Amino acid sequence: MSDTIKKICVIGAGTMGAGIAAQVANAGVPVLLLDIVRDPADRNAVAAGAVAKMLKTDPAPFMSKAAAKLVETGNIEDDLARVAECDWIVEAIVERLDLKQQLYAKLEDVRRAGTAISSNTSTIPLGHLIEGRSEAFRRDFLITHFFNPPRYMRLLEIVSGPESHAALVARVSDFADRQLGKTIVVAKDTPGFIANRVGTFWIQAALNAAFELGLTVEEADAIAGKPMGVPKTGVFGLVDLVGIDLMPHLQKSLTETLPKGDAYQAISTIPPLIGKMIAEGYTGRKGKGGFYRLN
Ligand code: NAD
Repeated sequence: MSDTIKKICVIGAGTMGAGIAAQVANAGVPVLLLDIVRDPADRNAVAAGAVAKMLKTDPAPFMSKAAAKLVETGNIEDDLARVAECDWIVEAIVERLDLKQQLYAKLEDVRRAGTAISSNTSTIPLGHLIEGRSEAFRRDFLITHFFNPPRYMRLLEIVSGPESHAALVARVSDFADRQLGKTIVVAKDTPGFIANRVGTFWIQAALNAAFELGLTVEEADAIAGKPMGVPKTGVFGLVDLVGIDLMPHLQKSLTETLPKGDAYQAISTIPPLIGKMIAEGYTGRKGKGGFYRLN
């Protein structure tokens, strides 16, 4: 088992992966950032906007110049074997259980046993993620749920499983605390953990109310912004920040994993407008804009 974390691999260079990689590099730790996207100009890629920023030679919005030198980018197929160089692999790909499980199967043989592997999932319980994985993989696996944007949000939810190696979880927690300045909250292995168990319900309720009452985005955010603890963005602005395309994935994941009688099930619908916006590329700040225009 590696005792220290000297290099980190982040898989998925979207909204969260790019932000996590930047924060790690800003802390002076080398990062290997891998994605399926080869061409940063590929507008079909879900998070092409964020990837494009990350792959530019001067990623000033994310990192200092010195930190940018610590980030190497690559393609998940071509560079998969390079995950063995890293002491912690952070998976931050799209919120789909099937795709995450396929990726973990590929990582089984290439990663170094005893190095940490964690998911940045918003909602999917750890028990589901590690189904079918080897004992060694299950022992090294945990959930590290960063919040958006990683460089400003201090909270980190950590979920470990019954088989997770305690020393490895402690090593990741210690790194996140000391080098990334995170406040660690240990959550139980339940759908949405703590923050999204509450947050997704509240966002959904606010969206439903706004659509049902025919409120403007500004009116809805005047009500569900400052009074609800998100003074800067409001609810619609938060959805723009998070990524509008993430909403259907969160909804699907939670409706599949929460008990049938759960209060979220009763209110959970994705308004047709959201599907239309995603189809047209209005995925929020990472796309052409969202409920609010980009400046
Ligand atoms: P995103 O759609 O912005 O980015 C996902 C990236 O993963 C894309 O660049 C995509 O090309 C890449 N990808 C997809 N499949 C891949 C694969 N097999 N191998 C390598 N790369 C692959 O998504 P995001 O919003 O950054 O979310 C990533 C994860 O973080 C999800 O699990 C999400 O639930 C979670 N999360 C998101 C937020 C948020 O605010 N957006 C906050 C906390 C947690």
